[in-house]
Parts: sequence; structure tokens; C-alpha cells
Amino acid sequence: MKRSRIGQNFLFDPLIASRIVEQSGINRDDTVVEIGPGHGMMTRLLAERSGDLIAIELDRKLFAGLRKEFGNSGNVTLLNMDVMKYDFGQLGPFKVVANIPYYITTPIMFKLIEGENNLRSMTLTIQKEVAERIVANPGNKQYGVLSLMVQFYGKAGILFTIPAGAFKPRPKVDSAVIKVERHSKPPVDVHDRKLFDKIIKKSFAGRRKMISNTLKTLYPDIKSIMDEINIAATRRPETLSMEEFANLANKISEQHG
Ligand code: SAH
Repeated sequence: MKRSRIGQNFLFDPLIASRIVEQSGINRDDTVVEIGPGHGMMTRLLAERSGDLIAIELDRKLFAGLRKEFGNSGNVTLLNMDVMKYDFGQLGPFKVVANIPYYITTPIMFKLIEGENNLRSMTLTIQKEVAERIVANPGNKQYGVLSLMVQFYGKAGILFTIPAGAFKPRPKVDSAVIKVERHSKPPVDVHDRKLFDKIIKKSFAGRRKMISNTLKTLYPDIKSIMDEINIAATRRPETLSMEEFANLANKISEQHG
């Protein structure tokens, strides 16, 4: 497979690598998973700072190099496989720290946050533009499905940004390190999670349209439903808070469930 196609942009600045590991907040009690260790720039630091480290690398050549350096000894377990096929459900409490391959940023994140597993936090280097969408708030033009899905799952923040020039080969975009810490309980009360997701996705499919217009084919009584929960029928999706989406979904589930 062509390397650029599997998102291979290696971090070569050791200071940035150690900053990421430090700010991830991991310690000797933690089981840590690294996705796409590459040449092992962060792997060394992670192995020193974690209890157990599981490093999952798809590329066979890179894997061979990692095995030379780390063996399968000590606290490092190396796996030569596609992270999308890894069963995170088999782990006890764990944290993810990774500079992930950008062609599968959202699939990896959704696998982690939607799967049944014991993930506690993830510290990920991703495209800056995606990071900004994740942490965006209502009223911001980057606010949308990704912001709501990730923020429902955990507290999300950008730790710092990394210029494209810190990687080799240089990627087309700047990067940012985000940290998402899983909520111990959901931040808003949602009665039907599937419906909540569906309402959000459907609403943002018509980003510039009024929600009442977008949803009226599915729910002909949408205007009166919105009226009952004090959300003006003229509102557009990017102005609704997570709590308002929860109220909306809960009310729809009451009337249509
Ligand atoms: N973390 C390293 C490398 C980042 S590049 C660093 O910071 O330098 C992304 C890495 O993910 C590459 O090593 C690439 O081979 C690996 N990778 C790509 N797709 C993968 C997949 N599906 N599963 C596991 N690793 C993958």
C-alpha cells in the first residue's frame, strides 16, 4: 500500500512528543493504547510512563522495526493489525494516546466512543480543522454533529496546535492535540439515544435551514413540539445547545415513541 494512503506523517520533534505524553496525564497505573506508533517516537516515552502499553501498527515494515526495539517484552505489547479490527472491549480501564492516521480520524474516534469499552480518556493528534469542529460551541460555524457526539461523550479540549512542518513528510494541514475525558454520567438527560443522534444528524443535514422545515417530513407536528419546549420554529441547527437537542429528542420520543 502506498504510504501516504495510510496516513503516514511522522512526528520528528522529540519536544512535541514529550509534551503530548506529559499532557495526556498518564501514569504507571494506566493501561495505554497507542494507535499507529510508526517509528516509535512516542512509544518510548509512553512505555516509560505507563503500566502497560499496547501499540497497534498496520504497516509490516514499521512493525518489524518496532519489534526490534521493543520486543514483546517488558510492558509493551505490539500488535501488527488494523486498529479498526481491534476489539477494545477486551480491555479493562484504558487510555488512548496517539498521533493517528488522518484518513481514518473520525472512524477511529467513533469506534472508541460508540463501542462498549472501558475507555477513560483519549489524547489524539488530529487535523486542526477536525479538532476545532470537535470543541466548537453553539453559534460557531464549526459546531455540528461531531461537536455534539464527542461532547456528549466527554469533556473535550484542544491542548495545543502543531504546525505541518513538525511532521515528515509534511502533511497538507496543521494538526492539533485534543484531549477527551469521558463523562462519568451523560451531561444531559437523553431518553432515547438513537433518536437523539438521528435528530441531530437529520437537523444538520440542512445546516442553513430552519429545523422545523428539515424535520417536518418526519414529524408533521414539529412546530407545536418546538413550541411546547420553547424553541422558536425559526431556529437553525447551529444555534441549538446540546440540552435543547436533548429536550427536542425527548419530546419527539414522547409524542412519536
Ligand atoms: N505516531 C507516529 C506515526 C504517525 S503516522 C508518529 O507520531 O510519528 C500514522 C501511523 O498509523 C503510521 O505508522 C501508519 O502506518 C499507521 N496506520 C495507518 N493506518 C492504520 C491502521 N488502520 N491501523 C493501525 N495503524 C495504522
